[in-house]
Amino acid sequence: MPRFTSFAAGIQHVVDLGVGRTLELSWNEAIPEEDVTNTIRYLVYKASNRINVFSQGPDYIATSNLIKLVGLNNNDVYYFAVRAIELDEDDYDIEELTQVGLHLYEYPTTTLETDLGTSELIIPVDSVEGFPLHGFITIDSEAIEYSAIQVTPYPAFIVSSITDRGAKNTVAITHDLDAEVLLYRGYPDNNLVIQRGVPTINYPNNCNLIDDGYDGYCDGYARSTTDFVTTDYSAAEDNVNFPPFDYCGYHSTKLDQYFTGTLCGTYAGGEFNGQRGFNLYERSMARLEIQLEQTGEQTILLQRKWEGERCPCMDSRREHQRARCPICYGTGFVGGYDIYFYPRNPPTGRILVRYHPNEEDLIIQETGLNQENQPNAWMLPFPVVKDRDFLVAYDELGNETWRYEVLKGTRNKLFYNKIGKVDLVVRRENKTDIMYQFPLS
Ligand SMILES: [Zn+2]
Repeated sequence: MPRFTSFAAGIQHVVDLGVGRTLELSWNEAIPEEDVTNTIRYLVYKASNRINVFSQGPDYIATSNLIKLVGLNNNDVYYFAVRAIELDEDDYDIEELTQVGLHLYEYPTTTLETDLGTSELIIPVDSVEGFPLHGFITIDSEAIEYSAIQVTPYPAFIVSSITDRGAKNTVAITHDLDAEVLLYRGYPDNNLVIQRGVPTINYPNNCNLIDDGYDGYCDGYARSTTDFVTTDYSAAEDNVNFPPFDYCGYHSTKLDQYFTGTLCGTYAGGEFNGQRGFNLYERSMARLEIQLEQTGEQTILLQRKWEGERCPCMDSRREHQRARCPICYGTGFVGGYDIYFYPRNPPTGRILVRYHPNEEDLIIQETGLNQENQPNAWMLPFPVVKDRDFLVAYDELGNETWRYEVLKGTRNKLFYNKIGKVDLVVRRENKTDIMYQFPLS
């Protein structure tokens, strides 16, 4: 008889996991005592009535002291017991039993189809389903070793030798029709501990109102999508069955290559500029450029110099450049700015910038009338526009309107680490600013 490692034998805990139709059972580990080389298994008894727990015989064999029983009925009361058994390692192969969970197997039983004498070697039974291919069975008090199972013409256990009757130190006796045939149980302990458990489902609380169309019980996967207090979002849940991305398709095997257009033979998106393929980034840029062509303003980009020949307005008596210097335009470097030529828009070389609508306000300050105007703007990520660069905007007739100083930029990462559109905050300079004297030709 096996011994439990901790003082308490038998089942310890039955825990309702709250996920519906599931209980978690646990008990102390047992160790073999008859023979240290024996294997420990656990018989799990389940009944809906406390009195019947042990009389109904075990329902499962477990190989671990922590199991999850699934497929129970929510809100029904169950009683459980666990007895440890010691088996010879070669009594039977537990893997040949029907597995019903992690570390959990169905305990098979059947009944005799005929009366059985003490020397018979073919044992006809109602069914051999779920039994190991060879092993030991118990009928009444007798243990019998069988070497094979027979399915046709009738289910039976085949015993190879008369010495295999009355095995495991039992005595061969006669048995009656309908006697119970059990898988051999080895040496079980005889604890009488019974624990009670009720599987429930925690969500939704109106679970019993849901008909999941299967067995009338909630399986925990059907969710309530409408009731008194929640909005009916069942339409959204109905979309759950969209097909996943076809990684194994003939033309589309790698998502990043697919979207960057480098995957040869990608046909999605049709033809574009004479090529098949779907360069998502180029397509995105092309669309942004189209938008800018409709709504953007022709703009010359003046890139501020950050290095070069020092302006003479900085001398030994003056640490900083003069803000209104006509040579460096306040940058400290001779020339001040470089005129950028945009190669996508010859011959003017102007870029396109969309200046958002914004309030124009002429406020009177101590210094005089001031134009406070800081619009947002956006443009393509190229050319790179940096802080303190200048933008010279033109109207529809080609007349220069305003010069803007770039104050801030936000580079939007589109995908694959590539930069999409760039948002800018710019300041419209007063017409008296020195920058209006910067020559554009
Ligand atoms: Zn200067």
